[in-house]
Amino acid sequence: MKRTVSIPVNLPDERFLNLMNQCASIFNAHIDWAIENKTFNKNKAHKDLYAMLRLQYPSVPSALLQTVRDNALEAIKATKFKRVPRKKPTSGLRYDKRTMTLRGHQLTLSCIGKRVKLILEIPDYFKQVFETWDFCGATLTYSKHLKQFWVRLVFESENPQEINGKIQGIDRGLYHQAVTSDGQFFSSSQIRSTQRRYLFNRRQLQQKGTRSSKRRLKSMSFREKRFMLDTNHCVSKKIASQPDVAVFVLEDLSSIRTQRRGKKMNKWLASWAFFQQEQFLAYKAEALGKRVVHQDPRYTSQKCNVCKHIKRTNRNKSRFQCKNCGHQTHADLNASRNVRDDYILSSTHGTEEQGSVNTPYVSGNSFS
Ligand SMILES: [Zn+2]
Repeated sequence: MKRTVSIPVNLPDERFLNLMNQCASIFNAHIDWAIENKTFNKNKAHKDLYAMLRLQYPSVPSALLQTVRDNALEAIKATKFKRVPRKKPTSGLRYDKRTMTLRGHQLTLSCIGKRVKLILEIPDYFKQVFETWDFCGATLTYSKHLKQFWVRLVFESENPQEINGKIQGIDRGLYHQAVTSDGQFFSSSQIRSTQRRYLFNRRQLQQKGTRSSKRRLKSMSFREKRFMLDTNHCVSKKIASQPDVAVFVLEDLSSIRTQRRGKKMNKWLASWAFFQQEQFLAYKAEALGKRVVHQDPRYTSQKCNVCKHIKRTNRNKSRFQCKNCGHQTHADLNASRNVRDDYILSSTHGTEEQGSVNTPYVSGNSFS
């Protein structure tokens, strides 16, 4: 099992931003090479590219170049050439044992020029994991919005201590921001009505097209984001701070965007507001020493939580009625219980657990 912690750190900005930028180019060069040669073989890549890239980026330490090469080829291998992984100039940078050391609280990172040493401030809730689990790697990320670097440390343990607290499933949809497996409903009717109002006003202003209407459009879009930000903060805080819950199970929705879920739902799933909500929950839960995990969402909305019978017609909008055993309940509540039970089942059957997804809070995404 893996656990992660994200810690804000102060680093020499220019050197590290320069490094991230160059590493992104090195990463992308490997991806281009892999696509052209239809292979993700590391040795071949090394032979073809290493000497050239060393000349092109002489200030990037050679160990880091090799780490980036491995990352790039693993990334393209994972997508089986179906998608093209790309890095932007400020994309996160993964470190491994070649490029970083952790002794006590002192972390040393490879960089352009001299290695950089820093002392980490470990939050209280993470101290036990920090002291007793094995350190396996770190990612350096940069938030453009906050102008802040973060290190995300990953720790691993073969036999972690028992989870102290409940596991809660959460279903997220159009009509409810969240429904928990113990029956709490967080309605999104206020969000929807506010969004409708903004949409109406936006259309009217767009038709006018004058300079002042453009100015008003801009300030309106800021107000709308502000409203979403407040709502997301509020709901994620309420969920994360439930005292008896230790693990939150969310549907892994990244894989099912292409599936038929309705136009409106897909639009919501792809929106920044939805993404922000998940980020907020992750970082608030993490700060309280809790975990957020993701679960394969297949059949969660069609399966009966009582008898496990799967049928598309079990669900009719917000009503769930099992065609097999007659069990009746709210469809989202039924789904959230399935998410929880599927997670419990998959984690006790010894399948490899997905690392917790406590990604750092990057607010740059919310106002771009
Ligand atoms: Zn049933």
